Amino acid sequence: MEIDKSKPYPEINSLECKSCGRCVAACPKQVLQIGKVLNVRGYYSVEYSGSGCIGCNNCFYTCPEPHALVIHKPGKN
Ligand code: SF4
Ligand code: SF4
Repeated sequence: MEIDKSKPYPEINSLECKSCGRCVAACPKQVLQIGKVLNVRGYYSVEYSGSGCIGCNNCFYTCPEPHALVIHKPGKN
């Protein structure tokens, strides 16, 4: 899956994600989904569809895991 990094996009740390689904529910563009691959801790980490993120940060603010997810925005990192 190729991510267009000229636009906002989420970077998910699959090791830290606990598959709670809060970010999936919070995303207004529905570009996050629970993945199909178990991580080494036994969770299905969230995945980004690869396009469509608008950088609203809803997912970041709703995520209870401090290091599971960050949003990158062009020119702001
Ligand atoms: S920043 Fe907003 S649009 Fe982008 S993945 Fe997170 S909730 Fe969805
Ligand atoms: S809110 Fe955080 S811990 Fe929950 S599924 Fe999304 S990235 Fe994973």
